[in-house]
Amino acid sequence: MIIVMSPNATKRNIDNVIKKLERLNLRTHLSEGEDRTIVGVIGDKKIIANLEMEMMAGVEKTVRITEKYKLVSRDFHPLNTIVDVGGVKIGGDEIVIMAGPCAVENFEQLRETAQAVKNCGAKILRGGAFKPRTSPYDFQGLGEEGLKILREVADEFDLKVVTEVVDRGDIELVENYSDILQVGARNMQNFQMLKALGESKKPIMLKRGLSATISEWLNAAEYIMNGGNENVIFCERGIRTYETFTRNTLDLSAVAAIKELSHLPIVVDPSHGTGRRAMVAPMSRAAIAAGADALMIEVHPHPEIALSDGNQSLTPEDFKNLMENLSDIAKAVGRIL
Ligand code: PEP
Ligand code: MN
Repeated sequence: MIIVMSPNATKRNIDNVIKKLERLNLRTHLSEGEDRTIVGVIGDKKIIANLEMEMMAGVEKTVRITEKYKLVSRDFHPLNTIVDVGGVKIGGDEIVIMAGPCAVENFEQLRETAQAVKNCGAKILRGGAFKPRTSPYDFQGLGEEGLKILREVADEFDLKVVTEVVDRGDIELVENYSDILQVGARNMQNFQMLKALGESKKPIMLKRGLSATISEWLNAAEYIMNGGNENVIFCERGIRTYETFTRNTLDLSAVAAIKELSHLPIVVDPSHGTGRRAMVAPMSRAAIAAGADALMIEVHPHPEIALSDGNQSLTPEDFKNLMENLSDIAKAVGRIL
């Protein structure tokens, strides 16, 4: 349930509402907008069903929320959330670019990529140190050595780091090196890991599962927020359909859906979303036009010898060309890049 306070409700009115809810062992979530405050209520369904709040001073109306996700919903929190990653703000006017190789392969490969993407305006360096590969015989990532390389190179070029955590037991280790913890598509419904990430102080980028519905994805984010971590960023990376031309089907309608249903920011990953280098630029432009807050793009200095995802990786030159074309689109939809 949400309790919408009237525009002239006093602080005392709001405090009284919260006190009443807390006496009933209900949790409250306050969202203070420009002209009114909304009190979100979470807890025992039976108690909430019998709540009578309309008679209290300062209460304008109550609205029952039928969806299971609450904290991530726009009903609970009408204004957009901006996730602050050490000064890089995701979800505000500026479109943020995250770029880097699929996997950290060695120091030189990452340094060359980081220098190139930084020169073109990227703010966040990506790179997997723990790789969730379909085959156990494929390159699995450098582990902690890869994390060390990521941190060192990112610091040299004043970039933030996003990298994937594939196992609940690795959360602390990855937290030591990364600014954003990425939950990969294959782990979107690893609920034990989501609960543990709810206790992390770092922002979480939650990729959409390979066959996850929007509602399942929102509920996965709810697990993280319910644990106390409010800094969740969605990432649309394509879903599995009958189409085989592309690696996945990039669902750009998910951007509009998430914007309608949630206050949290959303990133689009056109690299995994298409699996094809030639499609990355057009889908990047479309993602910005659709309202994405950030893009995540795979870049490799020599895609032909990449240890993973070479087919979808841009060269530094491709990346430069892409970046030159994005700011006009951003401007057309009222954003900055
Ligand atoms: C990645 O971004 O490195 C990755 C493995 O992506 P996904 O989880 O979307 O497949
Ligand atoms: Mn990849």
